[in-house]
Amino acid sequence: MDSRDLKKQLIIWRHMLHQNPETAFEEKKTAEFVAEKLKELGMEVHTGIGGTGVVASLSAGDGKAVIGIRADMDAINLKELSDHDHVSKNAGKMHGCGHDGHTATLLGAAVLLAETKNFNGTVRFFFQPAEEPGHGAKAMMDDGLFEKYPVDEIYGLHNAPFLPAGVIHTRTGGIMASEDNFKIRITGQGGHASSPHQGIDPLTSASQIYLALQTIVSRNGNPLHPIVISCTEWHTDGAHNAIPTHVEILGDTRSCSKEDQILIENRMREVSQGICTMNGAKCEFDYTHEFNPVLNDKNCVDTVIRAAIQTVGKEKVDENCEPWMASEDFAAYLNQVPGCFLLLGSGKTEENIPLHNAMFDYNDEVLMTGAELWKNLVEERLK
Ligand SMILES: [Zn+2]
Ligand SMILES: [Zn+2]
Repeated sequence: MDSRDLKKQLIIWRHMLHQNPETAFEEKKTAEFVAEKLKELGMEVHTGIGGTGVVASLSAGDGKAVIGIRADMDAINLKELSDHDHVSKNAGKMHGCGHDGHTATLLGAAVLLAETKNFNGTVRFFFQPAEEPGHGAKAMMDDGLFEKYPVDEIYGLHNAPFLPAGVIHTRTGGIMASEDNFKIRITGQGGHASSPHQGIDPLTSASQIYLALQTIVSRNGNPLHPIVISCTEWHTDGAHNAIPTHVEILGDTRSCSKEDQILIENRMREVSQGICTMNGAKCEFDYTHEFNPVLNDKNCVDTVIRAAIQTVGKEKVDENCEPWMASEDFAAYLNQVPGCFLLLGSGKTEENIPLHNAMFDYNDEVLMTGAELWKNLVEERLK
């Protein structure tokens, strides 16, 4: 297929996916569509992996190396506010993160690679459910993804509307952040607002903890490592004329290495418990790991860089970009196999609407860029 025809085809597919968004583990029609397109290319297709995941493999020559490329298929729970002709038909759901574009892009790569087969080895196409809640990669792996369809390396991308269209950014090490959640429950002794001396005000501890947590960033973390600690919710027993007995502080932390994740958790626990002890209050500290940081392998980054330069030219490639402090469940794969995650610039000149905004719509101009990047990557890695 000539590249102008393929571009038109990918736009049609992307708009169809955009009109029919499905959220975590409910990507049934999306998975059916993906499977059908892969079958039309003559591939053996496996469905229902980790719920609604789809896997297809394509081999050429007698090379033994195997790489995987992953796209995520899920939409988010958000009411779309655009009025273009491919607006969501599923009330309260929309492709606000561009996973419709990621899916169309990987299908485009499958079309190109099935046609030219100019490589030596095997490429596997992984279409994943439920990236948004962070459970899809794990579900596929728990379902035996790498046992049934082993790979030497895995690659993935996310569109980046905050970068100019067509640039390719990546880096060795942490490119996207961990996300951990915490809940600090402080128990004092409530009483009449007029008589603080007769009780133990948990808000005193909560206020001191709120400020002290930022010293973990400024005094315990390496200044060259990004760390974010955000307290996002406070709950008290809630009578305006009573000192409460309980306060809960909830929030979220981000960092780009496993060591920093452990440092944050340990110091947060010590600081919270220490302050409560000092004030005679009781502290319960819960900390959960939601997403690991996305940690890129140096050799895989080098392969991506070579393919990226071939695709968009040296001046549009950044091989040591700033990390993006959002999270990605692609990290889960990288715990088991080396790989590289990259950002594909998808900014629009006329407007700059961020991901997860009700007006977001994938930039169709970068569909072919992504598809060609994947094709070049396969040809570069599987020589
Ligand atoms: Zn998202
Ligand atoms: Zn996303």
